[in-house]
Amino acid sequence: MKGPIISLKNVSVRYPEGDRELRALDNVSLDIYPEEYVIFFGPSGCGKSTLLYAVAGLERPTEGTVNVLGRDLSTLSYQEIVNFHRKSIGMIFQAYFLIPSLSVRANVALPQIFLGLQKQERIKLGESLLERFHILEQKGKIPTQLSGGQQQRVAIARSLINDPPILLADEPVGNLDSKSAEDFMKLLEELNEKDKKTIVMVTHNPAHLGYAHRVFYMKDGKIVREVKNTERQQVREETMQPYRNEGLSELFKYYPHLDEESLKAKMIAMHLLEMPDIDVEHQIERLSQQYIQGKLTSADFISALSRSPRDGGVGLYEHHAERLADEIAAVLGMSKFLKKSFGTFPRNYEEYKTILERVSTYLALFSDAHLTSGQIEKLQAAIKGRLEGSLNRVDFTATLDKPFDDGGVGMNIRTARNIARVLELILVDYGRMTERQTIQPDQIVGALAEHQDAAQSGLLSDNTIQSNAPH
Ligand code: ADP
Ligand code: MG
Repeated sequence: MKGPIISLKNVSVRYPEGDRELRALDNVSLDIYPEEYVIFFGPSGCGKSTLLYAVAGLERPTEGTVNVLGRDLSTLSYQEIVNFHRKSIGMIFQAYFLIPSLSVRANVALPQIFLGLQKQERIKLGESLLERFHILEQKGKIPTQLSGGQQQRVAIARSLINDPPILLADEPVGNLDSKSAEDFMKLLEELNEKDKKTIVMVTHNPAHLGYAHRVFYMKDGKIVREVKNTERQQVREETMQPYRNEGLSELFKYYPHLDEESLKAKMIAMHLLEMPDIDVEHQIERLSQQYIQGKLTSADFISALSRSPRDGGVGLYEHHAERLADEIAAVLGMSKFLKKSFGTFPRNYEEYKTILERVSTYLALFSDAHLTSGQIEKLQAAIKGRLEGSLNRVDFTATLDKPFDDGGVGMNIRTARNIARVLELILVDYGRMTERQTIQPDQIVGALAEHQDAAQSGLLSDNTIQSNAPH
């Protein structure tokens, strides 16, 4: 597996602001891999441009390191940065930044002047790019004679003239009409897919998010969330995929601005009830959120759900309301237990097994299934697979439903679905949003085993084992 092409470690950029300071970037760490298309998404002022300029070597971080193509940018001299930038990075801006007095052809060929190519070659190269982007006929014009969409295509031709592996684009379609914007987004997509360019784009338009492999959400100078696009084949597939919440990633696409709590409440409401009435669903979702956050007691929650709509309630049957409250409480209880157990370092394999046993017992009880010890063993194996990501939700259900003699747990399909649904709910709350935060039980156990080997061979003291433990 190739290493990252761009790597930020604890990068902060601060500006003095009166007697305080403004954190344009606040302790950002992330890796971007070759041929990836990533988007930084967030409101104006959240630090997107600052981050892009730090990657470009145009902004020196106050703290932390920026590594691009294996080089720590902080160790480069000014001249080295200029050379690095010219060969490795193409940039595209919202305002195009073409030179107004030069022709289109000269604008595109300009960055090549410094690389010492012959004039004829420069012009040929520039013209082939202009042709590719359908603006060759405009080559003799100056930028202001072109439409916005055409100017941005000149800018992209210019950014590619030195064939850099990385393209950085700062709100590139911010000034374009929707048709030109779409054309431009298709161009970027092609440059990623066909030309294998690594693309880092900044936007505050949620409509663009589907183009990227990964989206980093930013707020107040921080990365607050990282989401993989489940519809694009990821550049970097983990050898073992940890539990990933497909449902939540789906919801992200529809509600990019919602915070984590609201999304979880939405998901739980959607799972627990198949409510046809959208208003009722919203109301249940809102109440569930308050209940999940501890702002409503279970009695108040049940009463609000079962009160008649005329009195501001939802109008559920009381036993339905009670069941909902019980299910949410049970789900949250189990996920809290998981967080507590996985959130701290399991000290040995026995602890990990205890977790699996407890979850499977709980699920078996929850579904009223009467299982033999052989079935429980297989259920545990399936849960382990789901937690570690080797089984997706559908395969998990299928494994539960499959006859015992064919290697399945041998439950009926209703029980299998019920158990799968409750496990997903537990994982909605337990499974952290971002991959970086997702805990991978096997890795923990593997790391532990390695440490134990090292400890046994006298390389590490017990103290070292503790301090090396992942958070
Ligand atoms: P975005 O691109 O997401 O809109 P920026 O990266 O441009 O955000 O800016 C992040 C924050 O840093 C903003 O509050 C902005 O005002 C501040 N900022 C950016 N550049 C400077 C600068 N040179 N001096 C002072 N503050 C700056
Ligand atoms: Mg900006």
